[in-house]
Amino acid sequence: MLAPYAAHDEQSHGRRYPEPKPDFRSEFQRDRDRIIHSNAFRRLVYKTQVFVNHEGDLYRTRITHSIEVAQIARSVARALRLNEALTEAICLAHDLGHTPFGHAGQDSLNECMRPYGGFEHNLQSLRVVDELEERYAEFRGLNLTFECREGILKHCSLRNARELGEIGERFIHRRQPGLEAQIANLSDEIAYNNHDADDGIRAQLVDLRELREVRLFRRQYDTVVALYPDLGERRLVHEIIRRMINYIVVDLIRTTQGRLEEAQPHSIEDVRALSKPLAGLSDAAREEHVELMEFLREHVYKHYKVLRMTSKARRTLKELFDAFFGDVSLMPPEHRDLAIHSETTQGPNGRARAVADYIAGMTDRYAILEHRRLFDATERT
Ligand code: MG
Repeated sequence: MLAPYAAHDEQSHGRRYPEPKPDFRSEFQRDRDRIIHSNAFRRLVYKTQVFVNHEGDLYRTRITHSIEVAQIARSVARALRLNEALTEAICLAHDLGHTPFGHAGQDSLNECMRPYGGFEHNLQSLRVVDELEERYAEFRGLNLTFECREGILKHCSLRNARELGEIGERFIHRRQPGLEAQIANLSDEIAYNNHDADDGIRAQLVDLRELREVRLFRRQYDTVVALYPDLGERRLVHEIIRRMINYIVVDLIRTTQGRLEEAQPHSIEDVRALSKPLAGLSDAAREEHVELMEFLREHVYKHYKVLRMTSKARRTLKELFDAFFGDVSLMPPEHRDLAIHSETTQGPNGRARAVADYIAGMTDRYAILEHRRLFDATERT
C-alpha cells in the first residue's frame, strides 16, 4: 500500500547499533513504541505548551500537543500513502527535548548556554533519543532508525550540523528529509496554530470579535453562525476550529499530491535530493495560515499575562542554571557525577551541558520545586 516515495523498512539507513528485525512489527512501529515507553515522553505531561500546567486542566500541554500533531500527521500520511508509523513516531518525539516552560524556557537556557555551545530544543530532542534515555542493555538512548532521527532534527545550526555526521549532512547540502518528516513538521504548525487559538479564547486572552480579523477564522465563523445561529460559545468555537483544521489539512494533502504528480519521485532518495520540500500548502492557504500565526504572536504569545509567566520562567531557569553550574554538587548525585565526568573530558562546556541536560529534562512543576528548594530558606531540601 505504501507509495514508492514513502519510507520503506528495506530502504532504511538503519540504526546506529544494528539490531535483529522486530517480530510482527515494522522498524518504524518499533521506533514509535520505544518513544511511547520513554521517560522523556511521560514528562511531556507536565511541560508547558503556552499556558503553564497549573493554570488550568484544559489547556494543551506538550503531551496533548504532541498527540494532536500525530493525529493530524497520520491522516495526511495515510492519504498520501506515506509510512504512518514513522510519521507518528516523529510527531510523538518531536518535542522530547523541550525545556520546562515552553519557548521561554528554551530561550533562557539557550542564553545561559551561549558561551558553552548553546541550546537548541530540536537538537536536544535528538540528544534525548540518542544519548539520554537509559532503558536498554545494549546501547544508550533508544537506538531509533535514521529516518525517525532525521525527522526529529527539524532544524539545526550549521555549526552543529558539521558535528553530527550523516544526520547533519542535509543541512550542509540543503537537502530535504523524507516526506514523513516534512508532514510531521507541517502538522506541528497546524496543530499549534489551531489549539493556541482555542486555548487563547479559553484563557480570555482573545475574543471571537478580535479573531474575526483573521480570514481563516472569519470564514468558518460566518459559515457556522449562518448554519447554527443559536449555538453556545463553546460549541461555536470548537465547530469553527475543527473546520479550520480540516480546511488546512485538505489543502495540505491536495497541494502535496499536485507537487508529487509533478516531481514524480520514485523513492525517498528522490524526495531527499530535491532543493525544496514537496509537502506544503497552496499559496492562498499558506498566506491565511501565516496570518493566524502572526495574530497569535501579537494577541496571545505577547499578551501581558503570558509575558508575566514567561518572564518568571526565564528567571527561574537562569537561577537554576547559575546555581548548578556554579556548584555541581547541588545537583542530585547522578547528575553531579555526570557533570564532573563530562568536565574532565570536555572542560567547562561539558559541565554546562550536563547542567543543561538536567534542567531541560525537568517538568514545569519539578523546576519550580527545585527552584524553591534552592532559594526558599523555609522549603525542605
Ligand atoms: Mg511542537
